[in-house]
Amino acid sequence: MATCSQCSSDILDGTAARTGGRCRPCASKRVVGEIAMTQFGRSYDEVWQRPRLTTDKYRDCWFQAELQLAGPLFASRTSGDIEYVFRSPDRFDGSQNPSELLAWMSRQVQAVAVCAAARAPSNAAEQSDREHLEVWVRNLGTLLSHWHEFYFARHPNWSGRRTVKT
Ligand SMILES: [Zn+2]
Repeated sequence: MATCSQCSSDILDGTAARTGGRCRPCASKRVVGEIAMTQFGRSYDEVWQRPRLTTDKYRDCWFQAELQLAGPLFASRTSGDIEYVFRSPDRFDGSQNPSELLAWMSRQVQAVAVCAAARAPSNAAEQSDREHLEVWVRNLGTLLSHWHEFYFARHPNWSGRRTVKT
């Protein structure tokens, strides 16, 4: 038995060895705090939220994208680990590496832009919703570019571990 260096809970020696002497909750809290300091973490905390729309016109445009992106982005923000994505051949269009995942995430965001652009607003409230959604799309584009840098900074040796599917 060992003791967590942060909160003094009893922890297994194996856990202590893996986490540098912290219990699992303290270890995850530390990772979340570290990621908060990155550009990706800051960007996620600022822009990853539902667009606040006042009409129904564009509501379904972003819903699917939000649903799809929530998992990988949340996992990245809270643990930096998205290996589960690459082990899910039936999801994320079968993305097997970070670049494929980035391309897939960008397509989700692009679909929101296309959906919003295809529907002309018929009043000021809808117009304002559409502008809101356009800002959301731009913010998400920025978030994804930070994600890419963040992921490779955290996993510098990732590329090449898996072969790109043919
Ligand atoms: Zn602890």
